[in-house]
Amino acid sequence: MPLYRDAGFELFDAETTKNAFSMEAENERIPELYIYSRYRNPTVVAAEEEIMKRESCKWALLTQSGMSAIDTAVSVFQKAELTGPWLFFSEIYGGTISFTESVLRKKRGLQIHNFYPVNERYDLDEFERLIRDIKPELIYIEAISNPMLIVTDVEAVIRLAHKSGSRVLVDNTFATPLLCKPLELGADIVIHSATKYFSGHGNITAGVLCGNDIDIMKDAIEYRKFVGHMISPDDAYRLQTQLQTFEIRFREQCHNAAVITELLKNHPVIRKVWYPGLTEHPTHDEALKLFGHRGFGAMVTFDFAGNSEQEKKNRRDIFIGSVSEKIKIIPSLGDPKTILMPVESVWGAKYPEPGLIRLSVGFEDPSELEKTITEALKQAE
Ligand code: PLP
Repeated sequence: MPLYRDAGFELFDAETTKNAFSMEAENERIPELYIYSRYRNPTVVAAEEEIMKRESCKWALLTQSGMSAIDTAVSVFQKAELTGPWLFFSEIYGGTISFTESVLRKKRGLQIHNFYPVNERYDLDEFERLIRDIKPELIYIEAISNPMLIVTDVEAVIRLAHKSGSRVLVDNTFATPLLCKPLELGADIVIHSATKYFSGHGNITAGVLCGNDIDIMKDAIEYRKFVGHMISPDDAYRLQTQLQTFEIRFREQCHNAAVITELLKNHPVIRKVWYPGLTEHPTHDEALKLFGHRGFGAMVTFDFAGNSEQEKKNRRDIFIGSVSEKIKIIPSLGDPKTILMPVESVWGAKYPEPGLIRLSVGFEDPSELEKTITEALKQAE
């Protein structure tokens, strides 16, 4: 695939120029209709086609980050003062929560409601009652949440939402299309932070929104163009290349996450492990329903045992120090190597437990990973 770095493309005559400009929002992949790279670029289109194959959908639009994909996706449903209430599930990426608070609520004046889980599980009867009550125009969910890995019953949420006339937007970053394809379940838009598993090497910041509804696509193309959320051709080129190994990488990452969970699960210094593949995980049933036996994702969260907060904190710090050569603190996920986040340091207002660690499991040799973690747990005893 050639890398087209051109900002503008040659339009050979006035008639072609007119056609190209009149078809800007059509997503036509006709070579002579390319105009300007902020609107559409052949390298970007090639990468979008790779994502369409994976999410099994009619269109995909790449953006410069996951956040710009979210902005583009939700903005399609905004109609100035005519915008009705929107409902966001509470357990979503912190940056998305900040966006809803600081931009959607405070700057755009939108009416944003939240739906909270009870005992780390969304109650669908409650959900049905709530949407009957507030009649949201848009419902925003994540298939797997961060950092407690709550799995949403995406199928049921979409069914109930559509029954009450709401549109559904799913952030599928943690689950990826290898585990579930919300568009096949009727979702109106799926978004990804392609910074994570799609690019998979911690070296690209990108986002994507995907769907089947052509009117939504046209609106999204225009919004992406007007605000300049378009991904760069260089990033799209690298993303398209790295996507070729997405399935191999993510399968291996899911496998390694299961291996590490087994290791942590019965260890005396560990109080609890959160991983949707565990039968005791609050949303194990939702995970089985949504993912079948394709895997349970590549994130694992665990908490150190201890007789005091200080003891748990000490164990966490010894663990982090012991693995630090092999497992770094990196505030992202989906990298080739396992990386970690001390949960309290980042999301302390919501998760104050000092012993919590979130692992994004990589695709390194699992026996090496086991060795590193076993040794660190021994030191934390
Ligand atoms: N959605 C989820 C689930 C995320 O974890 C993130 C980032 O961590 C985003 C969206 C935002 O993506 P980006 O950082 O690519 O803007």
